[in-house]
Amino acid sequence: MELIKRLLTGDRRAIARLITIIENDGAKAQEALAALYPHTGRAHIVGVTGSPGTGKSTLVNELAKVYRQRDRTVGDQTSLGIIAVDPTSPFSGGALLGDRIRMRDLSGDAGIFIRSMATRGSLGGLARATADAVKVLDAAGYQTIFVETVGAGQSEVDIARAAHTTIVIEAPGMGDEIQAFKAGITEIADIFVVNKADREGADRTVMALQMILDLDHSSHLSSQSPGWRPPICKTIALHGEGIGAVVEAIAEHAAHLRESGNLQRRERERIERELRSIITQEMARNFFEGLDEARFDSLVDNIIRRKLDPYSAAVLLLKG
Ligand code: GDP
Repeated sequence: MELIKRLLTGDRRAIARLITIIENDGAKAQEALAALYPHTGRAHIVGVTGSPGTGKSTLVNELAKVYRQRDRTVGDQTSLGIIAVDPTSPFSGGALLGDRIRMRDLSGDAGIFIRSMATRGSLGGLARATADAVKVLDAAGYQTIFVETVGAGQSEVDIARAAHTTIVIEAPGMGDEIQAFKAGITEIADIFVVNKADREGADRTVMALQMILDLDHSSHLSSQSPGWRPPICKTIALHGEGIGAVVEAIAEHAAHLRESGNLQRRERERIERELRSIITQEMARNFFEGLDEARFDSLVDNIIRRKLDPYSAAVLLLKG
C-alpha cells in the first residue's frame, strides 16, 4: 500500500489520510491497520483526562512545548503526537476550540502532529478509532503520543486506559476529587496533576487526593501499577509553571513500567481488552446486518404491550 510506505517515512498528509480512513471504518481501515501494525509498539502513550475546564488542553500544550524544547536542545529527531478526543462534539477531524489555541502556540513545528477525534455514532466506536489513530502515529515514528480526553464516563476511562501513563487532572473547588473518585478515574491515575494552583483550595485538593491514595495503598491502585504510588504535581498551566515536574513524573513512570515488568503485563491486558472489544463489536455488527427488521419491529410491539420482556425478546432474536 502506497499510503503505508509514505506513512513510514513520517509523511504528514499520509498520516492525516490514514486517520480519516480509520475514522470511516470499513474494509479499507482494516487493511491499512493490518499493514501498519508490525511498525507499532514503540511510542510511549500518555493519556490525559479530567473534567471539562480543569485545564487539559492548556497543560498538554505546555507539556508539548517542554518536550520539544528538550528535543531541540539535544538535537534529537524526536516528535510528539497529540490526539484530542471530544466525545461531545459531532464534528470530526476539524479544529476544536482547544486545538485552535494550540495551533497558535505549536503551529509551524514539524515535530508535532495534532488531531481531533469526535463522536461518530457510539462512544465505543470512538474509543476504538482513537486507539487506531494512536497506532498510525506510532507507526509513523512519533515517540510520545498524548491522548487527551474529557473524563466523563466509562468510554473515556477506556481511552485513557489504553495509555502507558495516565495523567488525571483536577482543579481546586467543587469537590472534583470526590467526583473523579466516583467515576473510577482515580483508579486509573498514574500521575495526578492539580492544576490552577494559583486558585484558592489547591492545597485542599492535593490533601484530598493524598488521603485517597493512603486509603487505597493496598487495593486497586497498586494493582494497576504494583509498586508505584501516583505522584501529585501542582501546576499553573496557564503560566507554564510546574510543568517540568510533570515531564519528570512521566519519565519516572515510564522507567518504572520498563524495570518492573509492568509494561509487558499492561500491554498484554490492553491487547486482551482490545481483542474482546473488537469481537463484541464485530458480532454486534454482523447480527444487526442480518437482522429481520419486521420481526424486530413486531417484538418491539410485543414489549410495548407487555406481552414480552426485552431480555426474552433478545434471546429470541439471537437464536435467529
Ligand atoms: P480543558 O477543558 O480541561 O481542556 O481546559 P482548558 O485547557 O481549555 O482550560 C480551561 C480554562 O482554564 C481556560 O480558560 C484556561 O485558560 C484556564 N486555565 C488553564 N490552566 C489554568 C491555571 O493554571 N490557572 C488558571 N487560573 N486558569 C487556568
